[in-house]
Amino acid sequence: MWNPAAEKLLGWQEEEVLNQPNPLFSEDTNADEFMKLLGLLLQGNALTDIEMKRVRKDGTPIDLSLSITLLYDKQGDIRGGVALFADITKRKQAEQMIKKMAYFDSLTDLPNRTLFYDRLTQAISQTKRTKKPIAVLFLDLDRFKIINDSLGHTAGDQLLREVSKRLLTCIREGDTVSRQGGDEFTILLPNTNHLGAATVARRMISLISQPMELNGHEILVTPSIGISMYPEHGEDVESLLKNADTAMYHAKDLGKNNFQFYTSKLDQKVLERLTLENELRKALERKEFVLHYQPLIQINSNKMIGVEALIRWQHPLLGIISPTRFIPLAEETGLIVPIGEWILHSACAQNKAWQDQGYPPLKVSVNLSGRQFKEPDLVHTIADILDKTGLDPQYLELEITENISMNDVNFTIQALQELKALGLKISIDDFGTGYSSLNYLKKFPIDTLKIDQSFVRDIHTDRDDAAIVKAIMAMAFSLDLNVIAEGVETIEQLLFLTKQNCPEAQGYYFNKPLTPDEVLNLLKEI
Ligand code: C2E
Ligand code: MG
Ligand code: MG
Repeated sequence: MWNPAAEKLLGWQEEEVLNQPNPLFSEDTNADEFMKLLGLLLQGNALTDIEMKRVRKDGTPIDLSLSITLLYDKQGDIRGGVALFADITKRKQAEQMIKKMAYFDSLTDLPNRTLFYDRLTQAISQTKRTKKPIAVLFLDLDRFKIINDSLGHTAGDQLLREVSKRLLTCIREGDTVSRQGGDEFTILLPNTNHLGAATVARRMISLISQPMELNGHEILVTPSIGISMYPEHGEDVESLLKNADTAMYHAKDLGKNNFQFYTSKLDQKVLERLTLENELRKALERKEFVLHYQPLIQINSNKMIGVEALIRWQHPLLGIISPTRFIPLAEETGLIVPIGEWILHSACAQNKAWQDQGYPPLKVSVNLSGRQFKEPDLVHTIADILDKTGLDPQYLELEITENISMNDVNFTIQALQELKALGLKISIDDFGTGYSSLNYLKKFPIDTLKIDQSFVRDIHTDRDDAAIVKAIMAMAFSLDLNVIAEGVETIEQLLFLTKQNCPEAQGYYFNKPLTPDEVLNLLKEI
């Protein structure tokens, strides 16, 4: 028998199915399955809720759930069976969708962390047999947060989709690119050794670094990539991922836009970094920061005409920690903003105090970090500090580095103009170590170039360094800029600079960075 519900569901009339190979369950259509299920039935088992894919008479697919109960005669022989089936297509579709949601990232359609985890587990268990290496890459976009915040989340989403597309073109079949969340991606490369992993990483860096068009803006993003290798850097999913992540942070530390393999030395660093980060959060409250001041000397008069404020962190247990160690961390964590405000305030207040004591006025130079420079209310903050401390703006100079200024030229010009409008001065620090786009330099409203100490170091022995310093000086004169040579340690260096008519210098030859009291002693001698 074949009831009307079956006719309606599948399209075949009773006479089309009776005494013919059954379209649902026959040896002709699904031989393997048929034999297996028949075997079960003949052993006297009922079949319950067996899921199967079938097609209706009109060719459309349908998911069915089938149950068969056997009918026996008095002798206990099987006489037939009752098959019950139900259309479960909708349920299967829902299951598929849930599976997709559970395993794929809805923004990029890439596998998500769960699926990545599964695939890596699977790759590891296969490798136990084949003994082939596996590479795990952890990729994070540099500066993504800034782009996301400034262009909006829609643009951020678009960027992530574009990055995904580019990443997919870098891999081969069997590899997995997944999105972990945010701007973090993980890549699984089975059967891949160090060389292969490095090649893929290099390709990803070069592709992602190509400009992208978003909302009519041309955007540049770069990735930092960390790599861990199975079994060398970990034998399970967790340690491979953790170590790739650690290596990625190392890549960021090394200036971003590069890739690094994990090494066990990094663990120590991470630990150190975590402690440092925690301590840094409390340092401002605990008043552990102090400013030292390094005199700026006018070369022809040998007089102190200014000081550069340099921050020191006096940790009760770790001792004095150099700014080169904690400023990058402060930048990354955003702590530089409150710390920077404190620096500006202290330096201005100190300078004003010296002036109030009747000493000849000095200019005080304060270093601005990139993050601070990008703060939308920097101008306000500084105006406020000048106001509160009462320091005449002409005695404040802000130092920014070339790299900060070249990042976004139009922004820089605008920001510098607003700062200059307050009446203060601007210098470019570590000049010569960055992009050095002299073309732009002309457009920046700046006052001073500080020649980086790496050029000053061998100024009288290295012809290239000497030539660079001469060129910087010539350019500065033609642009009517002041020049300060940094890191002057010897009389030879000073003599060279004097010959080049370099107006100002700073360095151990004159003074190390001094405490405020030590500066006061120098002021008394003037
Ligand atoms: P910078 O602004 O270029 O500061 C000059 C650095 O050179 C200082 O190191 C100074 O102590 C050192 N120096 C001065 N004269 C000599 C010399 O003759 N020989 C040698 N070898 N070094 C000399 P410091 O204080 O360790 O600061 C390092 C960097 O940390 C600074 O470079 C600056 O980029 C950053 N920094 C320091 N204080 C601050 C701050 O208050 N805010 C921000 N954002 N960055 C700061
Ligand atoms: Mg400086
Ligand atoms: Mg410098």
